[in-house]
Amino acid sequence: MPLKHPAAKQPRVTEISVDPLYDLGGESIPRHRLGPHEIPAGVAYETIHDELMLDGNARMNLATFVTTWMEPEAERLLRESFDKNMIDKDEYPQTAEIEMRCVNILADLWNAPDQATATGCSTTGSSEAAMLGGLALKRRWQHRRRAEGRATDKPNLVMGINVQVCWEKFANYWDVEMRLVPMEGGRLHLGAAEAVALCDENTIGVVAILGSTFDGSYEPVADICAALDAYQERTGIDVPVHVDGASGGFVAPFLDPDLAWDFRQPRVASINVSGHKYGLVYPGVGWVVWRDASCLPEDLIFWVNYLGNDMPTFALNFSRPGGQVVAQYYNFLRLGFEGFRKVQQYSRDVATRLADTIAGLGPFELLTRGNELPVFAFVLRPEIENFTVFDVSAALRERGWLLPAYTFPKNRDDIVALRVVVKRGFSHDMADLLVADIERELPRLQAQAAPARRGEAHSSFHH
Ligand SMILES: *Cc1c(COP(=O)(O)O)cnc(C)c1O
Repeated sequence: MPLKHPAAKQPRVTEISVDPLYDLGGESIPRHRLGPHEIPAGVAYETIHDELMLDGNARMNLATFVTTWMEPEAERLLRESFDKNMIDKDEYPQTAEIEMRCVNILADLWNAPDQATATGCSTTGSSEAAMLGGLALKRRWQHRRRAEGRATDKPNLVMGINVQVCWEKFANYWDVEMRLVPMEGGRLHLGAAEAVALCDENTIGVVAILGSTFDGSYEPVADICAALDAYQERTGIDVPVHVDGASGGFVAPFLDPDLAWDFRQPRVASINVSGHKYGLVYPGVGWVVWRDASCLPEDLIFWVNYLGNDMPTFALNFSRPGGQVVAQYYNFLRLGFEGFRKVQQYSRDVATRLADTIAGLGPFELLTRGNELPVFAFVLRPEIENFTVFDVSAALRERGWLLPAYTFPKNRDDIVALRVVVKRGFSHDMADLLVADIERELPRLQAQAAPARRGEAHSSFHH
């Protein structure tokens, strides 16, 4: 998000003109400063409502992992909780209770050894959850090093270059060196041997992603843990693992129950997930859970009043809306295990069928096929030189589809891909409509003499 609006993109007219029937006495409304006095609520509403029509249609946004559809009952609960502040545990004890129940449910879902001692909290999303998980890793490492009388000035964190931008933020904001494993050949995410090769006594942890935002693939958490076990035997250095399960934390437990990516791995110290991705809640909620209390150093915890007692909290924010946590609990209660499984299985079915159909159109090759996260990436066949994936993305935008094209990182920045994120609310029927639109646009693109777009304008891809 730009902190400052680029000057060139400012609307030329600095006044908002309203329909004469609203009768503001011929007055217009300034765009960039407060108006001199109040205007009727209806005029304010209509003005903003109309402006927001320029936003894309969220339901056709295949770029985002974030929930774009919830049941009306969940929306009602959200509305009913707008006025509650999550931090006021004493005033809203039942919302606080529901937050703790959600943590219990996640600890259980992720096979924490003892659901009662697993610790965790809600956050505004996986980014805040990652900050908290990373801080706990850093603080634990500092305590250990100090106890051994060793230096604590050069912490590092090992991860694949495909990590989400929140880990760059963590490293930057908290002065931790990022050690990035590049992609290589067909390996488009972190490999176990490559992760271990970057570890040393200053490594506060390894981040493994379930799954990668670039292509929806799961990183090999079990292999990474096994390689770190061997590393510890060899060197005596014990490196914990944090799993960034932003999306997969709500997919793998239901669709891949035999995949031991979670607390079944003794080395996994903490896991984060975005409630607002496959947790099926509108934007504004994430979760972080630690294996047990020993993984979250006491000195990071603050205490707030709760029914006359103190309740532990760990957060970057103070005030925050309570509705998202309530909506998360609604999904848990409403769907249960089997309901979640059905919802995620349907997304996987839509993703894999859509991927296969796109592969069959001719010009495209799949990098992944939607059978891990319900997300897949595809490229144009190398012999196609007269149009680019950016042209495909722009052509589909004409029909309202938001389908991003982006370049992969080092050492595979030769790959330029399109990515589809399938989530609740995107049906086989909508997928068929998307395919029909791709088929309609292809002849025009194939008749192009040369590429129209090479992607410079799209280079800031941060999902
Ligand atoms: C989306 C995502 C994040 C950031 O999550 P927010 O909930 O948007 O803050 C971090 N890591 C991964 C792997 C993600 O997919």
